[in-house]
Amino acid sequence: MSIRIDRKSCIGCRACVEACPGNLIKIDSDGRAFIRRPEDCWGCASCMKECRSGAIFYFLGADIGGRGALMRVQRDASTARWTIQKSDGEPLTIVVDRKQSNQY
Ligand code: SF4
Ligand code: SF4
Repeated sequence: MSIRIDRKSCIGCRACVEACPGNLIKIDSDGRAFIRRPEDCWGCASCMKECRSGAIFYFLGADIGGRGALMRVQRDASTARWTIQKSDGEPLTIVVDRKQSNQY
């Protein structure tokens, strides 16, 4: 499984449902998103990029050196705030100026 959905942060907007190329995300009877077959997720991150509530965490497993950390992105008009929750609980936040993000 490559993503985790934080039900408390989900507002049921369905953006992730529309974004998932594998049709893996559904909305439950409480109006919150859940991943239907986590074993089929291949970690493309499309859902995470579309979520405006920061409700989708990307699991950084040992295979990519993430040691079980969880990462999510929250955006406002000018910044993208990437938050990594390390497996030991230590947080790491990287703030990117969205206007500068495509400059070399
Ligand atoms: S990471 Fe990709 S495949 Fe996995 S649930 Fe999200 S959109 Fe679907
Ligand atoms: S995009 Fe985010 S807020 Fe919207 S339904 Fe999916 S998890 Fe919930």
